[in-house]
Amino acid sequence: MSKEKFTIGIDLGGTKIISLLGNSQGVKCFLRTQTPKEESQIVQKILELVKNLMKRGKIERKDLLGVAIGVAGLVDSSKGIIVFTPNLPFENFPLLKVLKRYLKLPFVLENDANCFVLGEQRFGSGKGGINLIGITLGTGIGGGIIINNQLYRGQNFGGEIGHMIIKEDGPICNCGNKGCLEALASGKAIERIAKERVNQGRKSLILKLASDKEKITCETVSEAAKRGDSLGVEIFQEAGKFLGIGIANLINIFHPEKVILGGGMIQVRELFFSTLLEMVKKNVIPAILKKVEIVPANLGEKGVALGAMSLFWR
Ligand SMILES: [Zn+2]
Repeated sequence: MSKEKFTIGIDLGGTKIISLLGNSQGVKCFLRTQTPKEESQIVQKILELVKNLMKRGKIERKDLLGVAIGVAGLVDSSKGIIVFTPNLPFENFPLLKVLKRYLKLPFVLENDANCFVLGEQRFGSGKGGINLIGITLGTGIGGGIIINNQLYRGQNFGGEIGHMIIKEDGPICNCGNKGCLEALASGKAIERIAKERVNQGRKSLILKLASDKEKITCETVSEAAKRGDSLGVEIFQEAGKFLGIGIANLINIFHPEKVILGGGMIQVRELFFSTLLEMVKKNVIPAILKKVEIVPANLGEKGVALGAMSLFWR
């Protein structure tokens, strides 16, 4: 039996929490649960998950390196503070300090997209790469950048790829700016654009599938697009175009080995991937483009938690 210590990785999302216990050999146990609504309930849930994983994995405290948490939003990892997060009830919240009050363990905190790219580098489609860009395409758009095998944070919050301005005076973003990639090509943007165009009277299968304008989601738009609905197809192609422009900018600046695309939207990538590639080819300097690959993530929903786990091994 290997004597290697274990680590707990947690992906704290707006709707679900993915947590796992493992080491560099792989995952020993895994739990998925709903995210509670209140701040204090979330703290208690994290503590409960840590205890449950240790119990299930038959791990004692001395066998545990620590607990790493990935959160969507602006995170000050050096201070263990969640500064701002759009989908959780935390603002300037000293999560690590509060957790340590209850459980004397090493805790670390990191942005979820940073964890995503670290996870893909260690276990997934970024294996062997030392210059990587990870982009999570979900409700929002997150980004993580690895330069020369180091996670790039800049002064603190670097890597906010979703807030790259792609369109002057474009739609308003969650962050307050206009024309961010996230406001043009995220799951939430696709939902908003579909609602707007249906409201303008566009005939579409989207409305039929959703049964009500208010119930339109990114999933109804992708379902309609898969069935050949022209509005659905158009919305995803526009998203692919904007993503392609954003990715082309990143490739020209960073010349990574790979750009790894993850998040829920990657399940319907056939709807936008060819448009995205076209835009990348059109906008990246040819000599730079030669050695770059754009690949889907392959760790699925465990990617962020796996990447969080790997923070203890760097
Ligand atoms: Zn923004």
